[in-house]
Amino acid sequence: MGGTQTVHTDVIVVGAGPTGLLLAAELALAGVGVRVLERNDAPTSQSRALTLHPRSIEVMDLRGIADRFLARGHTLPGWHFAGLKTRLDFTALDTRHGYTLFLEQARTEELLDARARELGAEIVRGCQVTAVRQEPDSVVVETARGEALRASYVVGCDGGRSIVRQAAGIPFDGTDETLSGMLGDFAVTGPDAARSAEAHGVLAVPLEGGLTRFVVVDPERMRVPSDQPLTYEEFRQALTNVAGTDFDVAEPHWLSRFGNATRLAGRYRQGRLLVAGDAAHIHFPAAGQGLNTGLQDAMNLGWKLAAQVKGWAPEGLLDSYDAERRPVGAAVTANTEVQTLLMELTLVPQYHRPVMALRGMLDGLLRIGEVNRNLAASVSAIGTHYGDGSPAGARLPDLAISVAERPGVERLYQLLHDGRFLLVRTGKQAGASGREDRVETVTATAWQPSPDLEEAEALLVRPDGHLAWAGPIEAEQQALLDWTGAAAVAP
Ligand SMILES: Cc1cc2nc3c(=O)[nH]c(=O)nc-3n(C[C@H](O)[C@H](O)[C@H](O)COP(=O)(O)OP(=O)(O)OC[C@H]3O[C@@H](n4cnc5c(N)ncnc54)[C@H](O)[C@@H]3O)c2cc1C
Repeated sequence: MGGTQTVHTDVIVVGAGPTGLLLAAELALAGVGVRVLERNDAPTSQSRALTLHPRSIEVMDLRGIADRFLARGHTLPGWHFAGLKTRLDFTALDTRHGYTLFLEQARTEELLDARARELGAEIVRGCQVTAVRQEPDSVVVETARGEALRASYVVGCDGGRSIVRQAAGIPFDGTDETLSGMLGDFAVTGPDAARSAEAHGVLAVPLEGGLTRFVVVDPERMRVPSDQPLTYEEFRQALTNVAGTDFDVAEPHWLSRFGNATRLAGRYRQGRLLVAGDAAHIHFPAAGQGLNTGLQDAMNLGWKLAAQVKGWAPEGLLDSYDAERRPVGAAVTANTEVQTLLMELTLVPQYHRPVMALRGMLDGLLRIGEVNRNLAASVSAIGTHYGDGSPAGARLPDLAISVAERPGVERLYQLLHDGRFLLVRTGKQAGASGREDRVETVTATAWQPSPDLEEAEALLVRPDGHLAWAGPIEAEQQALLDWTGAAAVAP
């Protein structure tokens, strides 16, 4: 073992990707001590992901920071599924943010890094974690710098090869890679490159700083393992094979291969160790869901882990992270496998014709409003429901509301900025909740509930914007106890 044990931290987060940074921000917001350990010396300027989907913007809105992201990117009305011609229409969703925000991953990370730091999280770069060991009351984390750090909990947000997941002995079952694609960011392209590339089966997307990203799957090279280095010559050849031209690309800024290995962690928690983001699920980057799913993991876990550290978490609250988020991870990995199949088989000569016919049929189905809305709700995560279909567990839209205690508030999400539960009383009054450190109580003077909430005399909204409970005022105390623990916390 390495050098001296330093001070005890409440939570160590391994990895300063988007998942780790948002989790750190959420923990710090809840007043929990958090230290992020990241092996890279500096933030990366290379962006794998390019999109933030509607629920990701909503969760930024829940914390009052959506404008920071919106100011840096531009919006598109929807997104694709399996590259089908008919796009998913995000404008039809029940949200104020019915669009995809086109924002490079490097910018998203920059904004989340700043947010985490301003709330007091410590982010240590150039610090690779080399070992993680659980002890009965804490976890010891060893680093390549020779330190041994101690924390109450450790969360692995350290990507697909997660050392935390491995140390926890959590299985990562799924399927090995069978297919790889290539991406290249280039400075020199003609003005019509994007349009012309798309017509030739190559995706081309304008990036910041005059760069264009080309994404290509070349049938002749699609079985090359993704860990094999990609050269400029190979990339140009792949463009020529697929599109009949290399679009005069020159000066690559970044070349990378990516694969379709698909795996899901067998558990998201093992004692004092947890995993989130790519450490918990990997898949082909189809329909831009990986980063977005990691952000939702972080929003679900942050307040639960904070409650555990603070000592008021009701029995089972921390385990509900696995119960709520693993099914979402399973659904995302499944839909990316479907998309990969729909794309890959078009490149295999004997399946090309029937698969093109199948794609045509699916295109037709996506033109039916309700079908499109359903899939859009799933890909955008607007449809995520942590329950059995009853109101409890549902994501609450940003409904219009006025409350007596806070003049000027016009919508629900404005009441969730500080990350506490929100108890909304809609008519009858009751006493104080006795949990002001974790619950804000307001009285609605006007509000527009969905029909299934119209009868509720009180509702309890979770810090992640999902409904915990709705019902008569007499049942409020029990709901508070079930979700927010006893009023008095032992020191
Ligand atoms: C080509 C491509 C395009 C994509 N496009 C999209 C898209 O449009 N939309 C979308 O939502 N997703 C997309 N994704 C997926 C997205 O990039 C990932 O899902 C996302 O980066 C996961 O974030 P994360 O924070 O969980 O993990 P990562 O971003 O992988 O971050 C993990 C961090 O942990 C650090 N780390 C690892 N091991 C250690 C260690 N031992 N000690 C310390 N630090 C460590 C790493 O250096 C890294 O910074 C795409 C992926 C690819 C490959």
